[in-house]
Amino acid sequence: VIGAGNVGAAAAQKIAEKELAEEVILLDLLDGIPQGKALDILQSSPVENFDSKIKGTNDYSDTKNSGIIVITAGFARKPGMTRDDLLLANAEVVKTVTEKSVEQSPQAIIIVVSNPLDVMSYVALKVSGFERNRVIGMAGILDTARLRTFLSEELDISVNDIQAMVLGGHGDSMVPLIRYTTISGVPVSELISKDKIDRLINRTRNGGIEIVNYLKTGSAYYAPSAAAVEMIEAIVKNKKRILPCSAFLNGEYGLENVFCGVPVK
Ligand code: NAD
Repeated sequence: VIGAGNVGAAAAQKIAEKELAEEVILLDLLDGIPQGKALDILQSSPVENFDSKIKGTNDYSDTKNSGIIVITAGFARKPGMTRDDLLLANAEVVKTVTEKSVEQSPQAIIIVVSNPLDVMSYVALKVSGFERNRVIGMAGILDTARLRTFLSEELDISVNDIQAMVLGGHGDSMVPLIRYTTISGVPVSELISKDKIDRLINRTRNGGIEIVNYLKTGSAYYAPSAAAVEMIEAIVKNKKRILPCSAFLNGEYGLENVFCGVPVK
C-alpha cells in the first residue's frame, strides 16, 4: 500500500484484518509514519485475531514481489476544492510511485485510489506499461456504496438487499443506473418517487464533498478504503465478481483511450 495517510492506513488495516495477504507493506515518503501505523495495526492482531504481518517502510525494496500495489499516495481535497484541483500535484506523485513500485513488482496488479481517479489511473497505466487488465481504479464501488447507504436509510431496508451500480467518471459526471437499481429484485422506481430518487442521486454525486466539508482537513477514508479492499478481495480470492471500477476502455461503449467507470469482472 503506497501512501500511509488516511486511506492507505485504513486499507492496510482492513487487508490485514481480513487476512487477504500474508504480509502487508505500508510505504510512505514520511519517515516514521508508515512504521508507526504498521506497528500499531500489527499490535491489534492478537485482539482482532489475524495472522497477516504488516510492516511500514520508506524503502521500495521492501515491497519486492508484491501481488497487488494499492496507490493512495498524494494530496486529498480540502473544502472548496474539486478532485481536478489535485491534478498536477498528484500526477507527479502517481508517476513517481508507479515507477518505483513496478520496478520491484513487475507482475503486480495496480489498484489506483489517488484523485482525480480516472486520470491518475491513466498515469499509472502509461507509466507502468502494464496491460490494461492490471491497472484498475477504485471509484464506482464507493459511489455505489454511498447510493446504497442513502437508499437503505430512506427505505429502512438492509443495505444487503439493495443492488445498484454507479458508473461513469468519479465526480459530477458519475452515472447512477437507477433503471438497474433494485431492492431484492424490485425496481427502486416502484418504491420511491422520482423526486426522492433525484435527491438521493444528487447526494451520491456530492457524497465526497459532504464529508470534506465536515472534516475540513481532508477527505473520506473509511468507505474509500473499504471499497478498495473489496476489489482486493475479489482479486485475491478470484471471486469473479462484477464490480464497478475505473478501467481503460478500448472501444467499449464507443470510448477509446480513456479510463471510465464500467462494470468490471
Ligand atoms: P492523506 O493526505 O491522508 O495521505 C496521503 C499520503 O500520501 C500522505 O501520508 C503522504 O505523505 C503520502 N505521499 C505523498 N506523496 C508521496 C510520495 N511521492 N510517495 C509516497 N507517499 C507519498 O490522503 P488520503 O485521505 O489518504 O487520500 C489519498 C488520496 O486518495 C487522495 O488523492 C484522495 O483524493 C484520494 N481518494 C480517492 C478516493 C476515490 O474514491 N478514488 C476516495 C478517497 C480519497
